[in-house]
Amino acid sequence: GLPPYDETNIFARILRGEIPSRRAYEDEFAVAFHDINPQAPVHVLVIPRGAYVSIADFSASASEAEIVGFWRAVGHVAKELGLEAQGYRALTNMGPQGGQEVPHFHVHLFGGRPLGRMIG
Ligand code: 5GP
Repeated sequence: GLPPYDETNIFARILRGEIPSRRAYEDEFAVAFHDINPQAPVHVLVIPRGAYVSIADFSASASEAEIVGFWRAVGHVAKELGLEAQGYRALTNMGPQGGQEVPHFHVHLFGGRPLGRMIG
């Protein structure tokens, strides 16, 4: 099963404002901030305000309003950062084999250079 949500994880602290972040976007459902170790000229993390461990937890447990609000926010972030015209990559890691390090659901947005073809 899924682990319980850890209120001390780094993104929970960022949401609470206990740790600074360079915010790119925020609304009722989501917050986006620049990754501290960017892997592309634009590398932003989009997270729901709700306490969900991973995409599995979010998909199973979030309300429809939260799910729609979150994914709309992902689109807004990409558009506001100018990624939409050139294209970008959205990625989420889940669990140990997925390489997830921070146990608060997040979507990475990468852009600003040709990303090549990468599936798995
Ligand atoms: P994951 O492997 O969980 O999908 O990715 C976690 C991401 O969070 C990594 O790309 C890492 O660089 C980023 N990250 C970890 N700690 C912080 C932090 O304190 N601030 C910011 N802005 N990003 C962080």
